Formats: sequence, structure tokens, C-alpha cells
Amino acid sequence: PTDINALADEYLRLAYHGLRAKDKSFNAELVTDFDASIGRVKVIPQDLGRVILNLITNAFYASKERKQAAMDKAFKPKVTVSTKKTKTGIQISIADNGKGIPKQILDKIFQPFFTTKPTGQGTGLGLSMSYDIITKGHKGKLSLDTKENEGTTFTILLPNDTNTN
Ligand code: ADP
Ligand code: MG
Repeated sequence: PTDINALADEYLRLAYHGLRAKDKSFNAELVTDFDASIGRVKVIPQDLGRVILNLITNAFYASKERKQAAMDKAFKPKVTVSTKKTKTGIQISIADNGKGIPKQILDKIFQPFFTTKPTGQGTGLGLSMSYDIITKGHKGKLSLDTKENEGTTFTILLPNDTNTN
């Protein structure tokens, strides 16, 4: 049984510090909104951790790209990680205020090797792997909501039978 809130918090900070180690000028606002009533959840922690880290890394990248594209000094990248216990299960959301995902590529982003990142910066495997881990490995759901130049939210839903409470 895993403390999902602690796992998400750890990876949010890890990803941010990793980015800042490479680029000291990178600043982002980190927001967390954790549901303390979740308790421990029966998951495969290494796998769920990889999914969360992937989604968070994508979120930082998108908000950084938007800042660069806007050339707007006032724009501040922001990544929000939240968890919530609902009737259907446990939700983990990773939201960014990045460039959004264009409609034309929405049907491709979960395909293995699909990436819009420059050569060497993306493998295009993050989302396809994440999809498999959540849907096959945890019998859950992975969905998203996106708006161009506003941001993207990915939501993981872990079904109720993974809850050990
Ligand atoms: P990679 O990160 O290596 O490119 P992924 O499978 O993680 O591979 O993502 C595939 C593509 O989906 C990305 O290249 C990008 O175009 C798009 N994408 C994923 N997450 C986001 C996001 N939060 N905001 C905007 N685009 C995204
Ligand atoms: Mg990725």
C-alpha cells in the first residue's frame, strides 16, 4: 500500500529540481492540492511513480515552451498536482498552464514514438507507457483535457478496488 500524496509530492519536486539543475533560470510555481483522506492505496509504486513523473515532466516542458514562445517575462510556468477521493476511485491530476495540445495531434499522442520534441529531447514513449501502466497494470483510466495556449490537465483514475481503506 502506497501513500499516493507523498509519491506525487516527491516526484513533483524531483522533476523541478532536475530541470533547474540543467537550467538555473527556469522558475515555476508548484501547487499541490492533496486529499488527506486518501490513505494508502494498493498500486505498483514503481510503475505509478513513472507515470506521475512522466506526466509532470511533460507538464513542465509544455509550460516552459509556452513561456519561450510568448517571450513574455511576466508569464510564470505553473504545475499543479492534485489528488481526490471520488465515488468511482482515486483521481490524480497533473495540470499545466502550457501551450496545450493541438487538435490535429490529439489522436496520436498515446502512440509509441510520437513526439513533437526536438531530436534527443523526447522518446515519444512516455504517454504510451503511461497509458498501458494505468489501463492494463492498474485497471484504471487516463484522460485529458486541453486548451491551446491555456494548458493541459491529465487525470489518472484508479478504481476503488485499489483502495485499501
Ligand atoms: P515525449 O515527452 O518524449 O515527447 P510523450 O509520450 O510523453 O513523449 O508525449 C508525446 C507528445 O504529447 C509530446 O511530444 C507533446 O507533443 C504532447 N504532450 C504530452 N503532454 C503534453 C502537455 N502537458 N502539454 C502539451 N503537449 C503535451
Ligand atoms: Mg514525455
